Amino acid sequence: MARAVGSIGDQQWAAATATSVSHAVLLNSLCLHCDEPLRVTNRSWAVRVGGRYLDRLNDRYLCPECSDVQRQDEEREREQSLRAARAEAERKRLKAEEEARTVAAFLAGEQAKDGSTSHLPYRRPTALALYLVLVNHAVHNPGKPLPSVADLGALGWTGDTERDTEALFDMYRAHLIAISSETPRQAFDISDEDGELRFFATELKWRLVGGGPMVTAHERAVRTHFMTAPGQEAHDDRQALAELVDRMEVINVISYLDGLLTKKYDYPAVPEGRRQELADVVRKGFAAGFTPGQMICFAWRAADSAAAWKERNAHMGPPEASSGTVTILNSKIDTAIEVHHAVPEYDPPRWHQQPVGLAVLRQLDAEVKRVRDRSVISACAQCDHQGLRETDTGALVRCVHTAAVPEQPEAQEYPAEA
Ligand SMILES: [Zn+2]
Ligand SMILES: [Zn+2]
Repeated sequence: MARAVGSIGDQQWAAATATSVSHAVLLNSLCLHCDEPLRVTNRSWAVRVGGRYLDRLNDRYLCPECSDVQRQDEEREREQSLRAARAEAERKRLKAEEEARTVAAFLAGEQAKDGSTSHLPYRRPTALALYLVLVNHAVHNPGKPLPSVADLGALGWTGDTERDTEALFDMYRAHLIAISSETPRQAFDISDEDGELRFFATELKWRLVGGGPMVTAHERAVRTHFMTAPGQEAHDDRQALAELVDRMEVINVISYLDGLLTKKYDYPAVPEGRRQELADVVRKGFAAGFTPGQMICFAWRAADSAAAWKERNAHMGPPEASSGTVTILNSKIDTAIEVHHAVPEYDPPRWHQQPVGLAVLRQLDAEVKRVRDRSVISACAQCDHQGLRETDTGALVRCVHTAAVPEQPEAQEYPAEA
C-alpha cells in the first residue's frame, strides 16, 4: 500500500510522479475525518492539498470515501429541510385559507344585518350624537363604506380616537352600524391559541345598518331626543353633548395652533409641560363667549406675535417661541375680555384638519341650545314662556320654534346599504 513519499526518494520527483500515475498518496496529508492519507489523481490536486513540497498538513480535505459520506449527509439534510419548508408552506396556506373563510363568514354575517334588531342606545350620548355624524358622512360619500378611525387621521371623529371607538361599539351593539365587508383583512387577527376571530378596532370600516327610511327614522329620533325629550336622562344626554362639543372645540383650537407652529413656522408643537395650561386658556376663551372663528383668530395672532418676538431676541429658539404662544394667547384673550375688543372670526385654513364630526355636532348642539334659548322662546308665538306648547290632543310638548327659523332641510337622500 502507501509508502512514505520520503522513502520513494526526492520530493520533487514524487510530485512529478503524481501527475503521471492514476493516483498518488499524500502521506503527510491525512483525511480530516478518518486520518487516512489522502489520494489525489493529478499533480495540481496534489499541490493544492499538500503544498508545493507535498509536506503541508491537511486542514481542509477529506478522503473520497469520507467526502461521499459527507455529501450524502448534506443531501439528506437538504432534502429534509426542503420537505419541512414545503410542509410549512402548505400548513401556512391551509391556515390562511381557513382564516380567510373565518373572516368571510364573519363579514357575511355583518352584511346580513338588516336593522330588524336595531335600537337607539339612549344613555350613550356620544354614540347617539356620532350616529348623526356617520349619517351625514354617508350622505356625502355615497357608495363608500364609513371610514375606519385609523383612516381619519389623528383627531378622528371627535378629537379622541378612544372615545370614537367606544361610541362606535355602542352603536355596533345597538345594531345601528355593522362592520363593512370592505374592511381590510389586516384589521382581523385569528388567535393561534383558540382560533377566535379578533379585530383591531381602529382599523374597522363600517356601514349604516338598514335602508334609507330606517336610517332617516333613527336620525329623526336621535334629533328629537336631544332637542325635545323630557326627563332627567334626556337632560343629562344634552349636557353630555354640550360637554363633548366643548371638548372638541378646545382640541380643535389646540390642534390648529400646533399645526401653525409646526407647519408654518417650523417650530415644535406647544411643549408637554404647557399643554394643560394651553387647554385651560382656550377653555377660558370659549367660556368668555368667543366663537370658534374668534379663537382661531387668537391662535393665529398668538403664533404670529411669538414669531415676531423670537425674531427680535436672537437667543430665543423655536421651543421658547412655541412655549411663548401660550403666554401670549392668554394675555390676548384677557385683554379682549377686559376692553371688549371686536375680534374677527377666522376660518381655519385648508391644511388644518378639524375633528371630522365637529361641524355636525357643533350644529346639533347649537340647535339643542336654541330650543331652550330665552330670547328665542320669548320671540316665538307658538309656545309659553317656558318654551312649551300644547298639541292638538292637549299634551304639553317642548316647542322647537320653527316658525321663527326656517326648518332644517330634511329631504336628504340616503345611500342604499353599502
Ligand atoms: Zn476519510
Ligand atoms: Zn316656540
